[in-house]
Amino acid sequence: MYRSHSCGKLRASDINTEVTLAGWVQKTRDKGFMIWVDLRDRYGITQLIFDEERTAASVVEKAKTLGREFVIQVKGTVIERESKNKNMPTGDIEILVNEVTILNEALVPPFTIEDETDGGEDIRMKYRYLDIRRNPVKNSLIFRHQVAMKVRNYLSQEGFIEVETPYLIKSTPEGARDFVVPSRMNEGQFYALPQSPQTFKQLLMVGGMDKYFQIVKCFRDEDLRADRQPEFTQIDCEMAFVEQEDILTIFEGLTRHLLKEIKGVAIGDFPRMTYDEAMRTYGNDKPDIRFGMKFGELNEVARHKDFNVFNSAELVVGIAVPGGAAYTRKEIDKLIDWVKRPQVGALGMVYVKCNEDGTYKSSVDKFYDQKDLAQWAQITDAKPGDLICVLSGDIHKVRPQLSALRMELAERLGLRNPEEFAALWVVDFPLLEWDEETARYHAMHHPFTSPKPEDIPLLDTQPGDVRANAYDLVLNGNEIGGGSIRIHDKATQALMFDHLGFTPEEAKAQFGFLMDAFQYGAPPHGGIAFGFDRLVAILGGQETIRDFIAFPKNNSGRDVMIDAPANIDAGQLKELHIKLDL
Ligand code: ASP
Repeated sequence: MYRSHSCGKLRASDINTEVTLAGWVQKTRDKGFMIWVDLRDRYGITQLIFDEERTAASVVEKAKTLGREFVIQVKGTVIERESKNKNMPTGDIEILVNEVTILNEALVPPFTIEDETDGGEDIRMKYRYLDIRRNPVKNSLIFRHQVAMKVRNYLSQEGFIEVETPYLIKSTPEGARDFVVPSRMNEGQFYALPQSPQTFKQLLMVGGMDKYFQIVKCFRDEDLRADRQPEFTQIDCEMAFVEQEDILTIFEGLTRHLLKEIKGVAIGDFPRMTYDEAMRTYGNDKPDIRFGMKFGELNEVARHKDFNVFNSAELVVGIAVPGGAAYTRKEIDKLIDWVKRPQVGALGMVYVKCNEDGTYKSSVDKFYDQKDLAQWAQITDAKPGDLICVLSGDIHKVRPQLSALRMELAERLGLRNPEEFAALWVVDFPLLEWDEETARYHAMHHPFTSPKPEDIPLLDTQPGDVRANAYDLVLNGNEIGGGSIRIHDKATQALMFDHLGFTPEEAKAQFGFLMDAFQYGAPPHGGIAFGFDRLVAILGGQETIRDFIAFPKNNSGRDVMIDAPANIDAGQLKELHIKLDL
């Protein structure tokens, strides 16, 4: 038996018990006649004491050789501590050691294994197994497990069955590139790793499984944006014989359950907002609705004067910043510089100070009088004391720019409290999205998403206006889930592929299996997938998903600990029929 108790277990009620503990040496304090050692494991820290008067000399000698992170086993007696530590659960006791075994020595760790470590990100990733010994990382992984358990229990109680789907598949287009795996037994052929189990979960519905879920790894070979991982985890779900409303209800339930169980927060019904409305009022399809600063469109009231910038703009739009009238000239200039940064890309910013006395002072006083500015204030819902920030230009550019400004200001004003939660559904997404690069339409969600039946006639004439039965679940400005009602008949699926630029032959070659299945009694179905890493991070009140992944990749998609990706040897390449031409 390696241990009788964990390092987090013993209390005053255990005094005089003989115990065996095992763990890592957190630190030692050698006072000459007495040595204290903090022994750590996943469950906590217990103080050990070696005392020249009460401990055998050979044991004390051995204690003197213990270094940080040595793995040891000790036997001893639980005694009352002389100076108790109220901040530690085991702070009333210590172990008077009579036997110590070094199970394994350790090199000096390259950073301190403390909550606040001296190690930078890179070194901690290289030695992730040491990082995991630290409470913040360890606790995040335990937290992730707890969220996963709550998800499993909830869905299981709702009648969902967890089914595993394959990882070695054929490409499923979800808008990213596939990671591919060469097949040794099939020369020149490749598997793709799933971007999601999309087609398989639909086939499970054809198979009559009715309610499916899976906490599953997905793989997308995208250029890495901040806080994205090439492999990530989804809570993937599908249901048969459902309409959009049924799905929204179930997954509202799941979200509410998680917030209640994990954060103790009760949220009521989730508002529904159409994609159009979200874009118009927040410039964004995942609005953070914990605070206002809604967009006010000013085209009508700003275009009748000689201000050419506005007259020639497709959209003139503003937000009211609470209390912003107090900003100094310098602060406002800084804000203007901020929106002009290449990451945001605005050409400039017009502003209006709404003075406490009801007058206005703007950067365009030459063109607009008090009456004009009062109208702007009304449309942007600006109160005395606020600052109206106005951007203008092409709709597709200006909305994200103002949205970025809105989020930044909210952050600065402390309006994005991670302990406050506001969820909503964004619905009626466009079915298709124009892609400049390839000069054709792409499926905005994925090609299996059903158009709204009443919009199908528009497919030929105004494809960009066709709405989909697709929805996103948004929490605090993050898209945490997205899904759709699917096409379940061959004809509509073929029509869809046609509009996406597939020839019938290409569609058959790539998705013949799905369209065939639709001919054998496919039930109406739909589903959703949640980004599990992000969900856990939000529930954990953290910004980065990396902290909740045991072995994450860095920003270049590398695992710096195992050093992957890496070359493979010539023999392996040959077996895989791959000739490298480097
Ligand atoms: N497969 C989709 C995704 O990964 C989710 C869904 O439509 O259920 O975003």
